[in-house]
Amino acid sequence: MFDTLSDRLTSVLKNLRGKGRLSEADIDATCREIRIALLEADVALPVVRGFIAHVKERAKGAEVSQALNPAQQVVKIVNEELVGVLGGETRRLNLAKNPPTVIMLAGLQGAGKTTLAGKLARWLRGQGHTPLLVACDLQRPNAVTQLEVVGERAGVPVFAPERGNGVGDPVEVARRGVEQARHAQHDVVVIDTAGRLGVDQEMMRQAADIRDAVRPDETLFVVDAMIGQDAVTTAEAFRDGVGFTGVVLTKLDGDARGGAALSVRQVTGQPILFASNGEKLEDFDVFHPDRMASRILG
Ligand code: GDP
Repeated sequence: MFDTLSDRLTSVLKNLRGKGRLSEADIDATCREIRIALLEADVALPVVRGFIAHVKERAKGAEVSQALNPAQQVVKIVNEELVGVLGGETRRLNLAKNPPTVIMLAGLQGAGKTTLAGKLARWLRGQGHTPLLVACDLQRPNAVTQLEVVGERAGVPVFAPERGNGVGDPVEVARRGVEQARHAQHDVVVIDTAGRLGVDQEMMRQAADIRDAVRPDETLFVVDAMIGQDAVTTAEAFRDGVGFTGVVLTKLDGDARGGAALSVRQVTGQPILFASNGEKLEDFDVFHPDRMASRILG
């Protein structure tokens, strides 16, 4: 996903190598190149502006260092600013003091929520938890069956509405799912919800109703990193319509430009908790801003 950006940044920074001192003009030229690279990678403009302003200010004010030459210092600054844009510290999942911890997934249809529910459940099991998946996407045909399939692969039970009595009420299913978890001693509940192809008031209302019914400890906004700038507008719509406590980036294995991944934290103010990079259940991990920054800087 970050190949082009990574190549661009690496080559810009390489140009500084061998310079004994950096003039203001060198720093300005470097920042100009970085700015273009970020914009071409589809990073949101306000994020780019802030990023460049910080890098410039810090590079110009950089102390003469014994340990690092000027080029290395700029690389260090760019790296630190990238880590900052991506959220700084790794943010851990917020677990309830009194289980079950309720995690609700929200996002557009096709973002990868159902797949992610399976990935998250598998990961939670690996961490010693006893999760329960709850199928509240009653909108998309087959979503319930799809969740049952991923649940089975993950070795995690799925609470689903009885079939055959119409569409059913997702709010009721969510409520009963959490009750079932309490009953059967599942310590984490992951609730899959319905999405639409575009932002839609009814979908937002449904997600907000589920949220009010189960009061999640985490509401995770699941976003396809391949949708580019749209990721930012979608994130804003979900922030305003449902509210969320964390972000999950999916499809980081794609060859889109990746700016969404670099913008969403700053634009929404919420941290990225997990990232998905493939269709298989194991293509998933905790999101580490520092590792992602190192990957981007090659
Ligand atoms: P939902 O509508 O939000 O529940 O989305 P799904 O979980 O059904 O995923 C939509 C499509 O994206 C499916 O074909 C998934 O296999 C695929 N998908 C999900 N996550 C990833 C990912 O990280 N990488 C890739 N390449 N495909 C993914």
